[in-house]
Amino acid sequence: MEKIQKTEDEWREELTPEQYYILRQKGTEPAFSGALYRNHEKGSYHCAACGALLFQSDAKFESGSGWPSFWNPAENDAVATHEDESFGMRRIEVTCARCGGHLGHVFPDGPRPTGLRYCINSTSLKFAKEE
Ligand code: FE
Repeated sequence: MEKIQKTEDEWREELTPEQYYILRQKGTEPAFSGALYRNHEKGSYHCAACGALLFQSDAKFESGSGWPSFWNPAENDAVATHEDESFGMRRIEVTCARCGGHLGHVFPDGPRPTGLRYCINSTSLKFAKEE
């Protein structure tokens, strides 16, 4: 996969302030505020910064957390994971493997078959409805 690298100035120009805050500054949108956490349409979820395919609707589930939740990425190498010890918590951060944009975190309390819960900001995603 070809990686995308841009300067922070370039990202700031391309992204909305909210997208920039979450994707580039590792922010978190308030729970239940996002446009996609209740989306049940069939389709694919792409990185809002670079357009890479990240998740499919068939791996989305209702976690009750207030953020879009998936039990698996679209492809194993679509996302990258990193140890995150910010805010006094030990969490695993999830980023877009192509552009490095912050997506959210992954937790080990998801449903079968993976047991994982990818907890992703709506703002980091663009939904493409299946035609
Ligand atoms: Fe990306």
